[in-house]
Amino acid sequence: MPLRTANIVGSGPNGLAAAITLAQRGVDVTVFERNARIGGACSTGEVTLPGFRHDLGSSVYPLGVASPFFKSLPLEQYGLRWIEPDLPCAHPLDNGTAVTLEHSLEATAAQFGPDDASAWTNLLASSVRDWPKLVDDFMRPLLRIPSNPVAMAFFGSLALWPVQALATVFRSEAAKALLAGCGAHSVMPLNMLGSAATGLVLASGGHTTGWPIAAGGAQGISDALAAYLRSLGGRIETGVNTASISQLPAADVTLFDTGARALSEIAGDAISPSFRTRLLSFKRGPGIFKVDWAISEPIPWSAKDCSRAATLHVGGTLAEIARSEHEAFYGHMCDKPFVLVTQPSLFDSSRAPAGNHTAWGYCHVPVGSTQDRTAAIERQIERFAPGFRSCILARRTWNSEQLAEWNPNLAGGDVSGGSMTLTQLVARPTLRTYRTSNPRLYLCSSSTPPGGGVHGMAGHNAALAALQDHDR
Ligand SMILES: Cc1cc2nc3c(=O)[nH]c(=O)nc-3n(C[C@H](O)[C@H](O)[C@H](O)COP(=O)(O)OP(=O)(O)OC[C@H]3O[C@@H](n4cnc5c(N)ncnc54)[C@H](O)[C@@H]3O)c2cc1C
Repeated sequence: MPLRTANIVGSGPNGLAAAITLAQRGVDVTVFERNARIGGACSTGEVTLPGFRHDLGSSVYPLGVASPFFKSLPLEQYGLRWIEPDLPCAHPLDNGTAVTLEHSLEATAAQFGPDDASAWTNLLASSVRDWPKLVDDFMRPLLRIPSNPVAMAFFGSLALWPVQALATVFRSEAAKALLAGCGAHSVMPLNMLGSAATGLVLASGGHTTGWPIAAGGAQGISDALAAYLRSLGGRIETGVNTASISQLPAADVTLFDTGARALSEIAGDAISPSFRTRLLSFKRGPGIFKVDWAISEPIPWSAKDCSRAATLHVGGTLAEIARSEHEAFYGHMCDKPFVLVTQPSLFDSSRAPAGNHTAWGYCHVPVGSTQDRTAAIERQIERFAPGFRSCILARRTWNSEQLAEWNPNLAGGDVSGGSMTLTQLVARPTLRTYRTSNPRLYLCSSSTPPGGGVHGMAGHNAALAALQDHDR
């Protein structure tokens, strides 16, 4: 029987992508979102002072702009506008300079001496060249024959390495630090197999499709997706927390934009005990502690290049970043954490009153930690931007409990929907990926392949799986 009706629980980018994929094929779709605002970790709000618009979760979109699904949608017609900063990202160093990820591979390499320049080029040239093909392959479930096996095999042969091992190809601390900062987005210890994958993907994206922000903030992406969904006849109901599937209207299928554990709770007896056990054994990654700042002026970075990027990797050397990520993963706090900083208002004046700015910063912490890391985070920024603290007009902090209260998909503070280790990338959250033990229930969140990030591909892939199963 072809699918006629579908419920989607959750309106994050994956929930909306699932809804759009179904609605495009004529399915009658309703999205149920517990919060008043749609978008999940892709939304924007005034959480410090009036007129200061903060991205509550994600802020920079290398995977969003490259997403084959987002690219297939007319989102510009529905208000989405990407803004590409001068630089994809900058990484301040203690000598007052910064190493930068430039838009071109050659420009990044040109910062280094001849050996490191050719090492950087050798590391990334093939993934930069094959970027569109690679994106298409790694954004689909991994346990399938890639459509570009040669490109994927070469990429995989590098991506499987730990960041720290890969970094031995460089002589300079600057090149090692640049790779480490990109690699730390994996939220894995940098000596773990597979930790290089995320860094290589992000660096390749920086050299090709870029690391844009969205005009008006993350909400601009979610609102464009929602507007397009409505144009296809889809409905979104906000303020509806789904605690049990018995609450939902009858539908041919329900897709959950929730965590794996939450799915097991909401589905109750509708899934088998053995499948529930497997969902419960899916591991969360480390959490984060996040600070949103309203600031009176741009962050006063010592290195001027830092003001050319919306994304900053603040943590010093490879050794320091590796220590920070190792400690968080294994349940310890680090006195000098690696801090991811975004400063979108430098490139989008709609984020703050004239002359003022917004920024956020977060560091990884042990999963579930509620310890206040504000001082450690601000110390790290002050190290590379003396005077930063005196620019702060107001701040809003979020520990893992506060993040999960706002969005339960961030349980434990984990922003990726589950640890992104090699095994959990393949069996995400089980080998069935989007499917469950119940043929009417599917998982479509970042707890399924390809995992964390705003790209909508998990939702799109899950919806395709549901269509495939029911259109037989
Ligand atoms: C602080 C932070 C910074 C990040 N930075 C970036 C970045 O710069 N770039 C990037 O690409 N990614 C970033 N990410 C990751 C990215 O935001 C997520 O991977 C992505 O949003 C996941 O999308 P999703 O649809 O799976 O889930 P979510 O975005 O988490 O959305 C899930 C939605 O489901 C709703 N929901 C959950 N349970 C229920 C229920 N029972 N009933 C009804 N509704 C429910 C939630 O309220 C939420 O709206 C960041 C995340 C965080 C938290």
